[in-house]
Amino acid sequence: MAKRDYYEVLGVSRDASEADIKKAYRRLAMKHHPDRNPDDPKAEAAFKEAKEAYEVLSEKDKRAVYDQHGHAGVEAAAGGGRGGPGFNPGDAFGDIFGDVFGDIFGGGRRGRSTVFRGADLRYELSLTLEQAVFGDTVNLTLPTVVSCETCSGSGAKPGTKPVTCKTCEGAGQVRMSQGFFSIQQACPACRGTGQQIENPCATCQGRGRVQKSKTLAVKVPAGVDNGDRIRLTGEGEAGQNGGPPGDLYVEIRIQPHDIFERDGADLSCGIPVNFAVAALGGSVQVPTLDGEVTLKIPAETQSGRVFRLRGKGVRPVRGSGPGDLFCRVEVETPVNLTAEQKRLLEAFNEALVAGGDRHRPRNRSWLDGVRRFFEKMSP
Ligand SMILES: [Zn+2]
Ligand SMILES: [Zn+2]
Repeated sequence: MAKRDYYEVLGVSRDASEADIKKAYRRLAMKHHPDRNPDDPKAEAAFKEAKEAYEVLSEKDKRAVYDQHGHAGVEAAAGGGRGGPGFNPGDAFGDIFGDVFGDIFGGGRRGRSTVFRGADLRYELSLTLEQAVFGDTVNLTLPTVVSCETCSGSGAKPGTKPVTCKTCEGAGQVRMSQGFFSIQQACPACRGTGQQIENPCATCQGRGRVQKSKTLAVKVPAGVDNGDRIRLTGEGEAGQNGGPPGDLYVEIRIQPHDIFERDGADLSCGIPVNFAVAALGGSVQVPTLDGEVTLKIPAETQSGRVFRLRGKGVRPVRGSGPGDLFCRVEVETPVNLTAEQKRLLEAFNEALVAGGDRHRPRNRSWLDGVRRFFEKMSP
């Protein structure tokens, strides 16, 4: 099933503020909360959908990936299995829940780890058939989020360090008393991280990561096919607060070719054959991946006949030897005939007609078929 757009799920605009997103999610989560809708799978589904949308849109970096790459970007991150926190769709009460509801349900979170692995990224690489068959090294330029060089990813101005948050004393949470109640809340000063940056790095404004485009030389092995994926370990998004980077998955897309069609290890192509050669026999030059070869055309070759050239297909990345090349004969009707050629052809045609159906194998079986068709139709 196609996923709904996360902004649509939460009913907010694409430029909604963090506060608006949180408010929208809180409203939906209250409405569809499983405690309020026991045994209601629809409510549960709506709750999970809203939760998933919130988890992505509430995190600045995930939201940036989503804005740029859509569901594919964040799914790739989740598919890595080691994505950031909150990417567990089966868990209805993840970290985020505590974040939003800590102050309502009295739940809380202690000592949240803020070291996140970077998101995995997916890139579609379009190749010509030749590049896919023979392999190539392709330079990719892609936007990515990298660790800030100025502050080595800490977010603090060089020469300074993040300090323990004074409000929560590093716990990431604060306790507030209201009448009889004592409630725990994510620390508003450090947003739960337990640390504060007093002198933010000017390059990254304290985020520790910056947007950059980088160029990568990707080695494409010979024989790759549509949908094959090349994994570049550590070339995904930079991690947060010293976390490891994600991976980059390069997915192969092969462009249509002028001559060859590919089916796995096999190739096929059409070969135009002059009708005199098709009738009398002869030879034609056939293109293959390693140069031209001569294909013998036997006499009385019909259009559509397929000749197989063993081993002239593609050698796959993994496994056995190369596939085959299938050449499909396309008998050509001559064009731009001179008066003399037309005269010869007319004389030839008279001789052909005089010979009857014995010169026309397809016509005979075709006429038989037509006759049987009308016999079945008549009552
Ligand atoms: Zn920085
Ligand atoms: Zn704090």
